[in-house]
Amino acid sequence: MNTQHIDISKDRVPYEKPQPWGMRGDMVIKDILNEDPKLWAPISEGVTSRPLHLNVTQGFYVHLLRVKRSGLLQRHRHSGQVHAHVLKGKWLYLEHDWVANEGDYVFEPPGETHTLVVPEDCDEMITLFMVYGSLIYVDPQGNPTGYDDVFLRIEKYKAHFEKVGLGADYINTFMR
Ligand code: FE
Repeated sequence: MNTQHIDISKDRVPYEKPQPWGMRGDMVIKDILNEDPKLWAPISEGVTSRPLHLNVTQGFYVHLLRVKRSGLLQRHRHSGQVHAHVLKGKWLYLEHDWVANEGDYVFEPPGETHTLVVPEDCDEMITLFMVYGSLIYVDPQGNPTGYDDVFLRIEKYKAHFEKVGLGADYINTFMR
């Protein structure tokens, strides 16, 4: 067989031109499962959130949701798409017959209303959520009772970082 030797090193040439004007900086968040409580903002009893990317120009946020108790998370309707990747544990929605297990990917379409439950045999759940637009908290008939979006999240994370001594400006690490 005639195999041609390819010298990979000749292809290892970096781009020489400047990046385009106006481009935002790239972002690498190391060690996203780091247990340091300063990085995890409390949401409610046993529920914390670690921000990874807060995007105010496209109106989305990426965060890790960590639930250290079984139970229910507020019923809500999504105005935009949601992508989820379960990193640890499992959860389900009362409105669906499937369970999101460790390693699974879930797409939540805009318009979807659901109620998240962490089952009793799960001590800890960690899921990466990418959330576009707003969560509208609703009663069982769909009547709005509150909302959440990247801007409200930013306020909550800022207050948390200030409180734990990282300083409110620590939020800038995640802003694009
Ligand atoms: Fe949701």
